[in-house]
Amino acid sequence: MTILVLGGAGYIGSHTVMALKQQGYRVVVLDNLVYGHSDVLERLDVALVEGQVGDRALLEQLIGGHHPATERAPVQAVLHFAAYAYVGESVEKPALYYRNNLAESLTLVEVLLAEGEWRGEMIPLVFSSTCATYGVPDPDQIPIQESCPQRPINPYGRSKAMVEQLLADVAKAHGQPSVAFRYFNAAGAHPSALVGEHHEPETHLIPLVLDVMSGRRPYLQIYGDDYPTPDGTCIRDYIHVCDLADAHVLGLKQMLERLAPSPTYQVFNLGNGTGYSVQEVIETAKQVTERGLLAHVAPRREGDPPVLVASAALAMRELGWIPRYPELRTMIEHAWQWHQRRFRV
Ligand code: UDP
Repeated sequence: MTILVLGGAGYIGSHTVMALKQQGYRVVVLDNLVYGHSDVLERLDVALVEGQVGDRALLEQLIGGHHPATERAPVQAVLHFAAYAYVGESVEKPALYYRNNLAESLTLVEVLLAEGEWRGEMIPLVFSSTCATYGVPDPDQIPIQESCPQRPINPYGRSKAMVEQLLADVAKAHGQPSVAFRYFNAAGAHPSALVGEHHEPETHLIPLVLDVMSGRRPYLQIYGDDYPTPDGTCIRDYIHVCDLADAHVLGLKQMLERLAPSPTYQVFNLGNGTGYSVQEVIETAKQVTERGLLAHVAPRREGDPPVLVASAALAMRELGWIPRYPELRTMIEHAWQWHQRRFRV
């Protein structure tokens, strides 16, 4: 069975490609390689097509099985990770984010609908969404459930929320099946250290902490220590990237195998339900690496909510999802193994 993974050369996409391959699926990746890395897919021996999700003719070829990379096999399902995900950049270049994250997803949905109609069977879609669609939840809404009102506060979060809305609408109108996952803070790397986190520029806390600890950066900036949290730094719900990947495979299987009668459009939070402050992340990283780091308190980063913690009870109940690596320490251990392998530090 052939699965098309859009954005499969990125951080979460590449880990999901690995999980799909382990489950015996044939995988074809479409990625524009703006933020993704082809070497990851070479290591995984996966066919990579370089291009845009918004390239309608290319998508039609791939999904219909007329592209050489699909070896004439029509695609049975699509996983869509291809997006720009820098909040700051989305504020500076909103049109770029609406084009890439929203307009290109609309093209995908149109191609899926047309192909599904032609086949007489809709093609399931798994979509990467984000906790950024919630914006700044009220403290009494923590842990956040899927029913929490979505009030995104930047173009990145809005572009994702709009695609969710599109998927809900086409599910209702045309029976297009899809699952959207709202990720909290993806962290860690595959235990094999074959794939891991590789962003350029890097803005995420754990890889930046490890960069400082390995001497690749001079210091860490802690964005604000005057939040209404026990130690004054922001609290996030970190979730191992392999656990995210597992959830995608479960969501996909539920739609492909119709394991249980389920609504046509479903949305699930993915997190561990436990929050860690920036200071706690630093302390855990010190224990894992047995190294210190220089950290300065800097002004708050615009748009950072004080606390984001998920309730992922729905994914556990409906998909049977059980995180394999719920401990922050394990996530940092795996991230550190990947970091050491990649930078030979
Ligand atoms: N953070 C920080 N310094 C950094 C990067 C991040 O203090 O150099 C904080 C950030 O303010 C947030 C947390 O670490 O509270 C996680 O940030 P990250 O960018 O990793 O993920 P986000 O929660 O923004 O998706």
